[in-house]
Amino acid sequence: MADKPIRLALVGVGKIARDQHVPALEANPDFELVGCASRHQSLDGVPHAVSLEELLDTGIGIDAVSICTPPQARYEIAAAALRRCLDVMLEKPPGATLNEVAALEGLANAQGSSLFATWHSREAASVAPARDWLSGRRVVRVHIDWREDVRVWHPGQTWIWQAGGLGVFDPGINALSIITQILPQSVRVIDAELAVPENCETPIAASIRMLGDAGAEVLAEFDFLHPGPPRWQIDVECEDGHLRLTRGGAVLEIDGDTPVTAEDREYANLYRRFADLVRARESDVDCEPLRLVADAFLCGRRRTVDAFVE
Ligand code: NAP
Repeated sequence: MADKPIRLALVGVGKIARDQHVPALEANPDFELVGCASRHQSLDGVPHAVSLEELLDTGIGIDAVSICTPPQARYEIAAAALRRCLDVMLEKPPGATLNEVAALEGLANAQGSSLFATWHSREAASVAPARDWLSGRRVVRVHIDWREDVRVWHPGQTWIWQAGGLGVFDPGINALSIITQILPQSVRVIDAELAVPENCETPIAASIRMLGDAGAEVLAEFDFLHPGPPRWQIDVECEDGHLRLTRGGAVLEIDGDTPVTAEDREYANLYRRFADLVRARESDVDCEPLRLVADAFLCGRRRTVDAFVE
């Protein structure tokens, strides 16, 4: 007999919930979207409450929640869901601090719930082929060039400039989620420079120098004031070849050959994986990209720059 659909509620109806989560859920028969919780927004035809607690109190059956709020609001909602023995999927980054994610993982284990800390960029079409190509190769140098116009990609999102919102690391962590997936060695932060606007709490530009444990030099450059089309590119130089990922991991180019583009299935893949975890009663919580950002904040030099005006 086929499994019953997982009855899922979305929490935090904003840009990513509408752009990606709703279409991915609608296309996936493993899930039934039974409700949404958001203070100011709702989805047509979907039962709504202003908070998860109020949604649960209506008595509708909910098996799982997918939390699409900014990171600062994630922990309390996820913890409340886990205490009710629901399964939980977290947008990236999984929390505002490393310890709150560890606490959620412990709670999920204690409750027998599944917790999935997603990294959507790892599901970009060319990330798995890039990892396969790099496997067993000696990496010499990596350059991450991640630039976009915050006014275009995050209009009106004041949370991004508040402590815990990560600033330019909000997109930058996507690149870090990719390199921690594709490189055949782990990396650690050596130093960092953070440019923080005088009216903000988080950086608008940053660079991080990292070192692989097999000696690879890794430089990441993040910029939120990049005009025109975004530039989401990673170059990996090996002893015997060169790999380039562009368009956030969608396109792969090896040794200058014709770039290969595959269909975007990032959120379809995330929900397929979440369904598998729920059915297997397992969790998947990898904090490595968030750990690198935390280390950049710990050892980075701060420079105050001009105020950001939207
Ligand atoms: P958003 O458009 O600002 O939506 C987030 C929603 O969460 C808001 O509309 C808000 O709805 C709710 N919310 C709950 N508590 C909040 C709080 N304390 N402050 C602000 N909003 C709060 O943000 P988003 O772009 O969807 O991003 C949400 C998360 O998804 C972030 O972690 C981001 O990194 C990740 N993400 C975003 C994108 C993207 O392209 N935008 C891509 C991938 C991942 P109510 O006011 O109705 O509660």
